[in-house]
Amino acid sequence: MSVGYPIDLHTHSLRSDGAYEPTELIERAAARGVTIQALADHDTLAGAAEAIAAGERLGVRVIPSTELNTESQWGDVHVLGYFLDPADAALEDRLRWLRENRGRRIELMVEKLNALGYPVSLERVMAIAKGGSLGRPHLAQALFEAGHVASYDSAFDTLIAKGAEAYVQRIGLTPLEAVQLVVAHGGVPSLAHPFTVVGLEELMPQLVAAGLAGIETYYGSHPPTMTATCLALARRYDLVPTGGSDFHGRGDHGAPLGGTFVPPETIPALEARRGRRAAATMTTAVGGDS
Ligand code: AMP
Ligand code: ZN
Ligand code: FE
Ligand code: FE
Repeated sequence: MSVGYPIDLHTHSLRSDGAYEPTELIERAAARGVTIQALADHDTLAGAAEAIAAGERLGVRVIPSTELNTESQWGDVHVLGYFLDPADAALEDRLRWLRENRGRRIELMVEKLNALGYPVSLERVMAIAKGGSLGRPHLAQALFEAGHVASYDSAFDTLIAKGAEAYVQRIGLTPLEAVQLVVAHGGVPSLAHPFTVVGLEELMPQLVAAGLAGIETYYGSHPPTMTATCLALARRYDLVPTGGSDFHGRGDHGAPLGGTFVPPETIPALEARRGRRAAATMTTAVGGDS
């Protein structure tokens, strides 16, 4: 008997800040009845091949994806990129640059924490990450282990909260650049958990102009009013309503795997956006003077 819903378009593995190896993540999702899953590790497609192989064995269609966290005046703008190619070398160059920036940022945060009297070692943080894209979740776990915060989750509200003393801004993409990067590499961009954006109404038309194709509508922490707001934005801007658990396997963040209902028509609608970009590119090529 399945305990989850069949579609989950937002999950994380140990290739970024999730707690499980890609294979184990897919196994757990399959056991809950998931049949279509996006592995959307932050700034990396490193888990895609392994997840796809596990999915083939277990009857889960894995969509290679990433989640790009951005830096700007607009609060937490995270862009999901669907249907990306793990063998795209130019995309990998950009993602590597983002991951290197993540590493430097966490190093700086470790230095600040040590100076503030909350000793943590970079070695421990790296050991927790097991080679995945470094992020504050790894730091949160190290802080909890060292007894500097009462719980893993509370670290995000105290020591390493945005704007807190030990916080360091990321150097990375702006929201518009993140959308453009996904589009330029043949992917389909969707705005993750839109209510972490500050100034959503003003930012939306800009994201849409940059090529945004979806909006994460079905999300664990969305009450019906927020879902309705997302559906209205999807209609207004001709976006595909997407959704997923944002499962990490750490702390209280996100829903259980397959824990969010996502309508089945979402998948063909997203696939059509992929086709639309390809068709637009071909029209340009045919219409060009070469
Ligand atoms: P970073 O990208 O390093 O700034 O870390 C942000 C990531 O931390 C998000 O993508 C989430 O995965 C995670 N996160 C943010 N807030 C929380 C929270 N309150 N509890 C647990 N995880 C969180
Ligand atoms: Zn994360
Ligand atoms: Fe996110
Ligand atoms: Fe996420």
